[in-house]
Amino acid sequence: MDRKTIVVMFPYPSGSGLHCGHWYNYAIMDSYCRYQRFIGYDVFQPFGYDAFGLPAENYAKKIGRDPKEVTYENIDKFKIQMDGMNTMYETMLVTCDESYQKLTQDLFLRLLNKGLAYKAYGEQDYCSSCETILAREQARDGKCDRCGTKTTKKSLLQWYFKITDYKDRLIRNLDKIDYPKSTINAQRAWLENLHDWCVSRQRKWGCPIPIEGETDTLDTFVDSSFYFITYQQMKGMKPNPIDLYVGGSEHACMHLIYARFITMFLYDEGVIDFEEPFRKVIHQGMILKDGQKMSKSKGNVVNLDGYDSDEIRFYLMFIGHYFDGGSWSDQSINGIRRFVNKMKEWMSRTGEETIDIGKFKKQIFDYTDSFKFNKVVSSFMILLNENKNKNLTEECKSEIIDLLSIYMPNFKVKLGYKKHEHLNEN
Ligand SMILES: [Zn+2]
Repeated sequence: MDRKTIVVMFPYPSGSGLHCGHWYNYAIMDSYCRYQRFIGYDVFQPFGYDAFGLPAENYAKKIGRDPKEVTYENIDKFKIQMDGMNTMYETMLVTCDESYQKLTQDLFLRLLNKGLAYKAYGEQDYCSSCETILAREQARDGKCDRCGTKTTKKSLLQWYFKITDYKDRLIRNLDKIDYPKSTINAQRAWLENLHDWCVSRQRKWGCPIPIEGETDTLDTFVDSSFYFITYQQMKGMKPNPIDLYVGGSEHACMHLIYARFITMFLYDEGVIDFEEPFRKVIHQGMILKDGQKMSKSKGNVVNLDGYDSDEIRFYLMFIGHYFDGGSWSDQSINGIRRFVNKMKEWMSRTGEETIDIGKFKKQIFDYTDSFKFNKVVSSFMILLNENKNKNLTEECKSEIIDLLSIYMPNFKVKLGYKKHEHLNEN
């Protein structure tokens, strides 16, 4: 069986838990993975946590606690919420685990040995509130991206990775990678003005720089620059480029360029035999509320408690093309609930009639291949509306139920099947 490795950008486990955007990324891609399995692929679907970072450290400081404790508590909460999403991801790593820190430090030392990590004075944007220097992109319009404080310039001795040595290759390869056009353009523009990557941070909650006497930690973008390779190594697989990598378009530059750079470096080191990490990259759209970005300060965050996980998943699929996202409406998700109930009623009747499932299957699979999950949902709705008066044979019904279970993994449970019959994969 051919293997496909499908990776979603791992979350930062913030204290506020899973939000709509996580669901949109992870639940829908889980259905995409189930579809790939359905058509015969052996799908590897790993998951992890990008656990170091300023928000946890600032929060822990504020409440007088240890950031490590707070982070692992948050991860436990995330895990429970992920269970409720009913996905097939395998949780493989947490970047603040000792074992992963060791890998991050090994990477640093490898770069150091090749002269690609060096220390130099540099003028940096500094946030006095966060008490750290910021990457160029984290100090937009002279303000700290995290807290909004006006940044000042500070000349400090910092560690750098010599990404500029890879500039030509990073640009040249843009012609042969399958990324969204807007991301290719953004990378090209970003690489017109490339500086060496400043990787040291004057923070406590990060991976320590493995040099004697150093108290600085590494930029969390170092942690996330190779985790997709580690997933495969942990599974005992020979690392391959990721078949599909899915995450927000806000990562068009920094993360995706750093991941490409580190992959090229590991290729040069002979650790792996490919120099581009991702065969294909896509960005899911954004889920809005009343046309606006959801945020706590606006008080317009959708509370997903009380909705069934299948209903949330199916509704998010329905909201628009996967690359476009759309606007959440409480009314429309109730429409999905009515669809589920009608579907259950239809599937509870048996008779002698049949419908052409082959044609329907081809149609929804074409839509799935092109990430038009909204069309998949409407196809199911049309199928129901046009045929609900027919009493179908057991065989015909079971084909429909199997197909619907790709997009609504708990549907069989709703019909009264036992959980383990449905979760045969685990
Ligand atoms: Zn700040």
